[in-house]
Amino acid sequence: MRLRFWGTRGSIPVALTTADVRDRLAQALVAASGRTFATYEEAHAFASSELPFPITHTFGGHSPCVELDIGSDEYFVFDMGSGARPFGVHVLARQARRPAVVNVFMSHVHWDHIMGFPFFGPAYVPGTTIRIHGCHDVLEHAFRLQQSPPCFPVEFDQLAARIEFVRLEPDRPSTVSGVTVTPHLQLHSGDSYGYRVEHGGRSAIYSTDSEHKLENRAEAEGFARFFRDADVVIFDAMYALADAISVKADWGHSSNIVGVELCQMARAKHLVLFHHEPANDDATLEGLLKEARRFEELTRTDHALQVSAAYDGLEIDL
Ligand SMILES: [Zn+2]
Ligand SMILES: [Zn+2]
Repeated sequence: MRLRFWGTRGSIPVALTTADVRDRLAQALVAASGRTFATYEEAHAFASSELPFPITHTFGGHSPCVELDIGSDEYFVFDMGSGARPFGVHVLARQARRPAVVNVFMSHVHWDHIMGFPFFGPAYVPGTTIRIHGCHDVLEHAFRLQQSPPCFPVEFDQLAARIEFVRLEPDRPSTVSGVTVTPHLQLHSGDSYGYRVEHGGRSAIYSTDSEHKLENRAEAEGFARFFRDADVVIFDAMYALADAISVKADWGHSSNIVGVELCQMARAKHLVLFHHEPANDDATLEGLLKEARRFEELTRTDHALQVSAAYDGLEIDL
């Protein structure tokens, strides 16, 4: 199966500014000084292979939306942040006018996780089926509320798709169109739920908006069980560890270092830092990634953990 990241930023979407673009151009020109490129392709190859990641990429971007592609006709997606808009464009292009079936799994209903839904193109296509799964009583209310006057011009009932809300039970595995999905309660204002998904012998965890108190042994062991042997763990790493345990304790989010510790306990294979803090620029996020990789190396025993930072456009095959 393949994970496709359409939105990776937490709290509110961000975009590169003019100053950011100019800064990158200047850095690229310095890096290329003395070089000549006969064609656009040569210059493109240089940019792709020789320039550092923070010059050639941006961590983005859109608020949370992660697709799980199992190669079936149906779609599976976690959260409907603003990344749901480009995800919807992808669905419409692939469907080529055939109505889609989209299975949505919601971590919770904070605005950054639902704000893309009114811009999700397939919701406007007759014949489309959208099943929104989650554990919250307020799931349907929240989706309707954000499309109520005076906040949005198209009301929820005007959407052309057939939209169903499906209640899931925490820690109880459900099979949804061939995928096994298990939600797990997380510490976050108003509660959030992580998901463990299993298909074809592979497993992935989507765990965002989740604060961890590792000094609480039972809590840590509960998450280690939930993450156990996962091929990929998408993890709320909004803060640096120092912030997470001091000024931003109890803000409902976690850190890069806690992600490494939990994944090591669980013997997970690949940690993906996610829900990036909107105030952090690309160089800062690259720094947090390097810090997590260094910590993993220093604390590694017999089990190596791959560590990545999610960005809009990242795809991971597992
Ligand atoms: Zn969030
Ligand atoms: Zn939240």
